[in-house]
Amino acid sequence: MSRVAYVNGQYRPHGQATVHIEDRGFQFADGVYEVWSVFDGRLADFDGHMTRLHRSLDELRIDIPMSREALTRVLQETVRRNRVTEGLVYIQVTRGTARRDHPFPPEGTPPSVIVTARSLPVSKGNAAAAKGVAVVTHPDIRWGRCDIKTVGLLPNVLAKQAAKEKGAAEAWMVDEMGLVTEGSSTNAWIVDADGVLRTRDSQSNILRGITRAAVLALVESEGLTFEERAFSVDEAKQAREAFYTSASGYVMPAVSIDGVKIGDGKPGPVATRLRELYLNQARRDAI
Ligand code: PMP
Repeated sequence: MSRVAYVNGQYRPHGQATVHIEDRGFQFADGVYEVWSVFDGRLADFDGHMTRLHRSLDELRIDIPMSREALTRVLQETVRRNRVTEGLVYIQVTRGTARRDHPFPPEGTPPSVIVTARSLPVSKGNAAAAKGVAVVTHPDIRWGRCDIKTVGLLPNVLAKQAAKEKGAAEAWMVDEMGLVTEGSSTNAWIVDADGVLRTRDSQSNILRGITRAAVLALVESEGLTFEERAFSVDEAKQAREAFYTSASGYVMPAVSIDGVKIGDGKPGPVATRLRELYLNQARRDAI
């Protein structure tokens, strides 16, 4: 089945879907994005991702391209036209196309909007989650506004590639104090040596993951002890469990960090339970 992309008001065959060479996303990474997971053709954690998209646009003073309702229809229609039942839908909004010049383009320059969707069977993630994945650490060299979901992802790309070259699934980025910030495209969690579930607090220069927030709500309703407090690489290596969260990976157990086995080297009970709870809830509430 051929894929279809939405580009600035039109649905186009994926291979012919293009933006201008002077799109500011291409020239300056002057744009933001959002990703929803799709279950049964419906979008999960819908409001959380939509609200974060609007916040990212507001923070960068990029015009909101269309009403929330219209945008919702475009996202759902792109999923439908690509016949995605389980997978991901991606939106990118940039400050539009204008002659290359650093300041914002003239007022009224329309933002560019592209939407794509692709299949990613949950069963594939489940197979990885059943075994657990490897994580490596990497210096966090990003800017000071990682709370905005911008397409400026070069440090994240370099970290993920470093992980791949070491046979790992994800890179956990580490700040100058030796504390883990987050994964290259995920939020990082541990169950520490004392049994406390921990993830870095969302005020401190990380992306406020929508999956992270949903899992934290589940953690509270399960009555688990947890702290939103950063952990060091050493603490992570001595942890009982490690895992990461994202819209594409849900809750993914990590069984080694820099080659050091975590716990007994198998996915832990907390991560396994949270994955199941999260998947059930996301499926049920998708729209
Ligand atoms: N941190 C970073 C740097 C990310 O890119 C992502 C996913 N885009 C996440 C965390 C996870 O966020 P979410 O749960 O909203 O997918």
